[in-house]
Amino acid sequence: MTTATAATDLLNADLHCHSQVSDGTLTPEGLAARAAANGVQLWALTDHDEVGGLHRARDAALAVGLNYLTGAEISVTFAGITVHIVGLGFDIDDRALREGLERTRGGREERAREMAASLAQVGIHGAFEGALQYVGNPELISRTHFARHLVATGVCADTSEVFRRFLTEGKPGYVPHRWAKLGDAVRWIVDAGGMAVIAHPGRYAFTPTEEYALFTEFIAHGGQGVEVITGSHNQADYVKYADMAKEFDLYASRGSDFHSPEESHTDLGALPYLPGQLKPVWEGLESRIIRPQ
Ligand code: AMP
Ligand code: MN
Ligand code: MN
Ligand code: MN
Repeated sequence: MTTATAATDLLNADLHCHSQVSDGTLTPEGLAARAAANGVQLWALTDHDEVGGLHRARDAALAVGLNYLTGAEISVTFAGITVHIVGLGFDIDDRALREGLERTRGGREERAREMAASLAQVGIHGAFEGALQYVGNPELISRTHFARHLVATGVCADTSEVFRRFLTEGKPGYVPHRWAKLGDAVRWIVDAGGMAVIAHPGRYAFTPTEEYALFTEFIAHGGQGVEVITGSHNQADYVKYADMAKEFDLYASRGSDFHSPEESHTDLGALPYLPGQLKPVWEGLESRIIRPQ
């Protein structure tokens, strides 16, 4: 390092993306190579409810010269709404974390069968088998795999249209699901030595009161971070959640939420830098960063 005095908010960190081990289309190795090619300096793979790709992600990151943090994105139900909590820098062999993730994944197959039954009622048959063709990890069948199938079979033009017409609340094909509890997910991460981060808060349909409750309860459970710069946020969200990070004294994170070269509008590392005057998550995770050599 020649620039020891450089502001650490000007770091191309990408701490949120998905591989074939959940609902991304690239391998962990493919993502690491793409991140490095795009100028990413610190990288984490955060598959949904799963750490099965992390050995490969670490080896690939180090091989292409990336600094690396462990990661996962845990599905939580809070006030009746699905919230995602990103964990960073935890010990991937922690038993309670592994068991918690396994339980969180557990209901996905049955939910997928119910989704297929519900789609069949509107004339779309064979969606379970169709979605399965896109699944890399049999425990991790997700709405994204249904979306890919419905695009491939010409039912919709793109995955956003599938979500709009079929896979969101109130639409045929949507099946409500009870995910992990907020406090459990935060504890699994924190007790495994990591930092819990509220993923893309701008995406949730909370009232201001509910959002305040999410932040205060998250912090009471030991949560310490919030995503400010993410592929899911617009300019107004950047400003709003930078303010919230300061108000609640949270570390700020940055991640593309990249899933696929064909589907994702934000590529790995292709995001604005964190705004100044925030505490970057990588400052709180310094000792957890794994470096090449
Ligand atoms: P699941 O965990 O099975 O409920 O699937 C959630 C995943 O669906 C998210 O992680 C996103 O990858 C994807 N997703 C959710 N909403 C949308 C949307 N409006 N457009 C495209 N993908 C979406
Ligand atoms: Mn996803
Ligand atoms: Mn998410
Ligand atoms: Mn994600």
